[in-house]
Amino acid sequence: MCGVVAIHNHSEAANLAYLGLHALQHRGQESAGVVSNHEGTLRAVRKMGLVADVFTVERLQRLRGNTAIGHVRYTTSGGSLPKNIQPLTAEFRDGPVAIAHNGNLINALALRDELEDQGSIFSSNSDTEVILQLMARSRERAFADRLADALRRVQGAYSIVLTTGDTLIAARDQDGIRPLLLGRVDGDDGAWVVASETCAFDLIGATVVRDIEPGELLIIEGAAEPRSVGIGVGSDSQHACVFEHVYFARPDSVLDGTSVYEARIAMGRQLASEWPVEADIVIPVPDSGVVAAMGYARASGLAFEMGLIRNHYVGRTFIEPKESIRHFGVKLKLNAVPHLLKGKRVVVVDDSIVRGTTSRKIVRMIRDAGALEVHVRISSPPVDYPCYYGIDTPTRGELIASNHNIEEIRAHLRADSLQYLSAEGLLAAVKRGAIVGKPTPGSAESGTNCGYCTACFTGSYPVPLSEAPVRRQLRLIEL
Ligand code: AMP
Repeated sequence: MCGVVAIHNHSEAANLAYLGLHALQHRGQESAGVVSNHEGTLRAVRKMGLVADVFTVERLQRLRGNTAIGHVRYTTSGGSLPKNIQPLTAEFRDGPVAIAHNGNLINALALRDELEDQGSIFSSNSDTEVILQLMARSRERAFADRLADALRRVQGAYSIVLTTGDTLIAARDQDGIRPLLLGRVDGDDGAWVVASETCAFDLIGATVVRDIEPGELLIIEGAAEPRSVGIGVGSDSQHACVFEHVYFARPDSVLDGTSVYEARIAMGRQLASEWPVEADIVIPVPDSGVVAAMGYARASGLAFEMGLIRNHYVGRTFIEPKESIRHFGVKLKLNAVPHLLKGKRVVVVDDSIVRGTTSRKIVRMIRDAGALEVHVRISSPPVDYPCYYGIDTPTRGELIASNHNIEEIRAHLRADSLQYLSAEGLLAAVKRGAIVGKPTPGSAESGTNCGYCTACFTGSYPVPLSEAPVRRQLRLIEL
């Protein structure tokens, strides 16, 4: 998964983009980058590592210009390599372009083969470069038209920001899978912001204007109202990723008119009504299970306790690509509070089980701390299918729910009971997170006739796969 941010028409553009990336750090911890645009000249700082480590005062000062785009990344398509760090840049005859992309294209490899047959040379193995190469080959003249041309050929998920010349462009795929919002910097009449989540707006003192619509392409030039021209792919149905609400997005964000926090509270409440249990306390797996556990506790009348404490100085170990680090990670990250757990019947709430390794260790930790019973409740359905649209789920074979039933998973976790929220319950809960007066996916005001992508739970993929999404290995390694 990745996060994108863009600032336009502001004298502190790079600094604001940098701050925005801090707020989006949870969306990717492998690399970070900002490209600034000063009268058509681009300057880039892109490195592996966390936002706080990548940027220094000197580096930020060198990022001159009134426009800047930024990106935080972890690998979904392409490898965890320096040459894949975004924003990607390219020199076109009419000037340089920088692009930052959240989401995953499902026909990137086929397009890449086709482009290479026609003579294109790629310098990364990121699917985003396919968009730049398609733009380079477009017969259109204006950059926005070239981008729209390219986007009409790609399939899958993209929330994109791009800058060139004196323009910022933002675009969202026709299914609106990944979030993307437009805002204004408060106190500065002419500055515009685009970002993956509203928590980035809050940090830089920006006001949310609206979600960018599925299939929309926005051209932002100076202080004027952005021009919405559309990609021309036709969009009558949104399939916003429901997993953003389950796990990925920050709870203080509002995406597609829905509060992530309220949706998670509702998921916990719904879980308690679907799967009540006689117990003494409810504890979350921090941080991912905290809000849903509060909902569960409220609905069940059980006491909410922080029976597990998280070490906040350890990153999200799950997404470290190396297997060995992931296994070590749970103890590094969490510790039980024995006096809260001793002699208690405990309900432990988490957002999801992917491979099952984390939950198994957590159940053991709670038992070792003296709990009498451990009841695991998961605030989403079993993750049964991989995501091809940008969430880093493993292959189907590695997903514990794809080859085990719930009783087998319970036995694997060594829990006294295990239950998951139903798919209908999840969708109902996300609806309850809607903020009054804002259009949400599937609502009458939104003009869409669908709502959320639930492919990871149901196997129903909104964009059918035209190719097996494999990676092209890079054999030119930069060390
Ligand atoms: P696992 O040990 O594979 O079952 O990991 C499950 C844990 O990983 C849960 O606590 C989730 O909060 C978290 N999780 C689920 N999906 C992802 C993801 N795509 N990236 C990082 N962490 C995730």
